[in-house]
Amino acid sequence: MLIQIIHEDRDREMHKCESKREGDWIVFTCPICLEYESRLNFKTKERISRPVNDPSIFHNGTFVPPGLDVEGSKPN
Ligand SMILES: [Zn+2]
Repeated sequence: MLIQIIHEDRDREMHKCESKREGDWIVFTCPICLEYESRLNFKTKERISRPVNDPSIFHNGTFVPPGLDVEGSKPN
C-alpha cells in the first residue's frame, strides 16, 4: 500500500511534503509552508486540506505505512 498526493504540473512550484501518521489519519505537512496541512483518513478516504497563502504552489507527498511492504521494495 502506498499513499500519495501528486499533482502534475511542471510550470508550477512544487513542494515535497513530510508525512506522519496520527491514528487513522495521515498528515502531510510542508517544511516550507508552515501553514500548510493536508490530512487523509485512510479508512474513510476523507481528506481535509488547509490552504496555503500562495495557491500556485503544489504539494506532493508520499506516505508509506511502517511495517507494510511496498510493491517493488523487496527483491524477488
Ligand atoms: Zn509548501
